[in-house]
Amino acid sequence: MFGVPVEVEPGILRLTLPLPTGPRHVHSYLVRGDDGWTLVDTGLGLPETPWAEIAAGLDAPVTRVFVTHMHPDHVGGAEAAAAATGAPVLQGQLDYAQCERVWGSDDWPRRIADWFLLHGVPEPVVEELIESGHVSADFVRFAWNPHPVRQGDEVDGWRVVATPGHADGHLCLLRDGVLIAGDHILAPITPAIGLYPESRPDPLGDYLDSLRLVEELAPRVAYGGHGAPVTDPAARAREIAAHHERRLDEVEAALDGVPRSGFELSHAVFGRELPPAQRRFAVAETLSHLERLVVLERAIRHEDDRRVTYTAP
Ligand SMILES: [Zn+2]
Repeated sequence: MFGVPVEVEPGILRLTLPLPTGPRHVHSYLVRGDDGWTLVDTGLGLPETPWAEIAAGLDAPVTRVFVTHMHPDHVGGAEAAAAATGAPVLQGQLDYAQCERVWGSDDWPRRIADWFLLHGVPEPVVEELIESGHVSADFVRFAWNPHPVRQGDEVDGWRVVATPGHADGHLCLLRDGVLIAGDHILAPITPAIGLYPESRPDPLGDYLDSLRLVEELAPRVAYGGHGAPVTDPAARAREIAAHHERRLDEVEAALDGVPRSGFELSHAVFGRELPPAQRRFAVAETLSHLERLVVLERAIRHEDDRRVTYTAP
């Protein structure tokens, strides 16, 4: 049910909010600490989200809002949630910097359009891809100047764990074997790992490291932003890593001596017929795998100021 907190275990409530696209839902969490409830993630920012009612239904105040990452379905409701509860917003520094660049600036659509052109996306398709991004962007109301948090910080008894990959500045919370996972570990869907302009150079490499971290931490359960709780996060981390190994092989197999763009190679991996929103992810995901292959010396990148292409070594 949307908008009504449900207890998943003592002291942890799941709050599911609607999304107009994609998986159609996103989970926020309320976690009980010594001084009240911490709200983790805030949905897309749809104007009808009843934050005041949600807060009023709790047995203690919401004392802070914690943002795992700057994607629209996690940060979009931050301003409204903070306003309704009076609670401060906590967000990673790198994540907030990217959040401001993407959602808080007028020239982002132009910059991402140029970047898609650089990666071989034809002009009319670029227009479609940019258009598809507006579906979410119109609702995003992030909180300006949040309180910065970083890896290792304690938030009301929870430890902040940096898990870059799905987003460069992605953070999780960990306490007593419970990982509030954002979009780092999900089931049954696999988190998207894309390369985007002005992002870290090898997001898939970052992500695979962050999956290994989950194996080491071996939490009892992970509560993610979409789908079902993950009851064996270490095993799920291995499964997701294996999925990316297979995809790396697929992308590598599409390479030969002819320089090909990320757009062209995305056809080989994800097919030619995709609606714009999915094509956007397909290009970004193909590029993250290509950049990983470059690091592994299984691909070569060629670039000038007009075009980036890849070949087999
Ligand atoms: Zn999400």
